[in-house]
Parts: sequence; structure tokens; C-alpha cells
Amino acid sequence: MLNEKPIEKISVVIPVYNEQESLPELIRRTSEACERVALQYEIVLIDDGSQDRSAEMIDAAASEPGSHVVGVLLNRNYGQHSAIMAGFSHVSGDLIITLDADLQNPPEEIPNLVAAAQQGYDVVGTVRQNRQDSWFRRRASRTINHLIQRVTGKAMGDYGCMLRAYRRHIIEAMLNCHERSTFIPILANTFARRTIELPVTHAEREFGESKYSFMRLINLMFDLVTCLTTTPLRLLSVVGSMIALAGFAFALVLLVLRLFLGSEWAENGVFTLFAVLFIFIGAQFVGMGLLGEYIGRIYNDVRARPRYFIQRVINPQQQKLSVEETEQ
Ligand code: UDP
Ligand code: MG
Repeated sequence: MLNEKPIEKISVVIPVYNEQESLPELIRRTSEACERVALQYEIVLIDDGSQDRSAEMIDAAASEPGSHVVGVLLNRNYGQHSAIMAGFSHVSGDLIITLDADLQNPPEEIPNLVAAAQQGYDVVGTVRQNRQDSWFRRRASRTINHLIQRVTGKAMGDYGCMLRAYRRHIIEAMLNCHERSTFIPILANTFARRTIELPVTHAEREFGESKYSFMRLINLMFDLVTCLTTTPLRLLSVVGSMIALAGFAFALVLLVLRLFLGSEWAENGVFTLFAVLFIFIGAQFVGMGLLGEYIGRIYNDVRARPRYFIQRVINPQQQKLSVEETEQ
């Protein structure tokens, strides 16, 4: 297999925001699941600026002698995906698994994810079988997943599910993306060669409430779309050109008919005025479309995602030799 070295250690990355009720059981069940995999492991808990006792609890769990827990405490609330990124920068495993702290993703699935990754997949995604969220969220999520599939052509069914496993090189690639707002499953997929999706169960939230209000969900949706594509900007230019063309054509028709049918038909100048208006509207949309194209390109450059990652150079000595030869 072309794929890199075998998996020796797994890192479980969990963002925590006001989850003091879930934490003890989370740590217990995650440790248990990791023990079942015959590999070294660590559990990286990131406190995303919780106001409850989560941070102290993480501190205590990580300070125990021989503890597998690593605590990363952020100074304020940055959001789930930023918190996970912070966790990524502190992992030491070869396979990194993310999951939610609220136990909606059962940690018992970890061995299955590890087994799938060991078959040589870079990214192991999951599809929630019996999703336990509100009707509105299920509906919205389905629409968005469907749209993403159309845009990317990649058949991944459930981008919202954070129970996922990534090989280390994917994590390193993501850490090299310096954009502020990001959506990790989408970002990971842009660097993955082989992906697979497993069906997993989904539980209802036992303690507390979802940390996503309606406005934060909208924000998350925009993070997802802008992380993935500049297609909406491209649409602006395509739709803009179409409206512009229609405007020009309509203006032309009005002017020609005015000439042939006389000013009576054209309501003594009213239609001519309309024709002029349509020309201006058309010109405006052409301008907007152009702006969209420029902004799309600026966005891509500002985001400065690395163009590519080399996974491995084969026979590097040979290369060095030939460079030295040419230098002589
Ligand atoms: N989370 C976080 N920072 C936030 C919001 C959420 O770290 O600002 C964590 C939260 O503790 C949980 C995960 O992200 O582990 C998913 O959050 P939640 O369960 O509220 O989202 P939902 O399941 O409703 O999508
Ligand atoms: Mg949840």
C-alpha cells in the first residue's frame, strides 16, 4: 500500500463547551473504547472558554498520574471548529479522531473507525443512522449535504457528523490552512485521497442543550459554504450576466417598437425611459458579476491555502545527486 506507516497511536480530540455534566462519563467511555484498541492513545480535551466547571474538571483529569488525558484550555469561546483546530496542534498520534463532548456520538464506535483507517483510508467519515436532532436541523442538514454532493461530486452523506478519523498528514495539511473560519470535515476532504463512510448510531443529548442557537447555525452554514467553494460568487456573475443580457435585449425591443409603432404606443416617452432604465440595470449587473469574480480570486489568495502537499519523495538521494552534478 502506498499509504504511510502503520498506526501506532491514536489521539481523540474533543471540544468542550459547558459540558460539566457529560465530562465524567465522556472520559470514562472514551478511555474504555480506546483501551479496547490495542494501541497507545491520548484524549485531548479542549476547553473552549466554558463558564461552568469544565475547565477545572479537564485540568483535574489531565493532572492525574498516568492519565491519558491532555488538556488544552482556550482563554475564551472561539467556536467548535476553532477549538478542534487548537486540539489538532497538540496531538501526537498517527490517527486523529474527533467527536462531540455531549455523547451524541458514542465513543464505542472508535474501534470501528480505527479498523477502517487501518485499511488505508485517509479520512473516515460517518453517517448518523437514527439522527436524534430536531426536525428542522435534520431537514436543513439533509439539504446542505445534498448540495455539497452536487458541488464536489464526492459522495459523502453526512458532513455535520463530527465523529471522524483523520490520518496525521491530513491534520498537518489542515494546520497549514490559516483561514479564520473553517469547517473541518470539508477542509479535510480537500486533502484526502481515499475516504470512506461508516454508519454509526446517534444518541440524544443527555445533559444541557445544543450550543448552537439559530444564528450560530446560520453562521456555521456560511462557514461551511465559504470553506468549500466560491460558487455563490460565481453564480452572481453568471446570473448577473443573464439579467444584464435580458435587460439590454428588452431595452432594444422597446426602442425598436417605439420607432415602428410611434410615440402613442410607447406612452409618450414612458417606454423609452424604461428602455434606458433596463440598459442601466444591465450595466450594473455586469459590474456586480465582475466584482464577484475578483472577490472570489481575492478570497482564494487571502485564504492562502497551500497549493499542494507532498506526501513522500521517493529516492531523494538520487535527486540530491543530480542537483550536485548540475552545480559542478
Ligand atoms: N462546542 C464548542 N464550542 C462552541 C460550541 C460547541 O467547543 O462554541 C462543542 C460542544 O461542547 C460539543 C460540540 O462542540 O462537544 C458540539 O456542540 P453541540 O452538541 O452543542 O452541537 P450539536 O450537536 O447541536 O450540533
Ligand atoms: Mg450535540
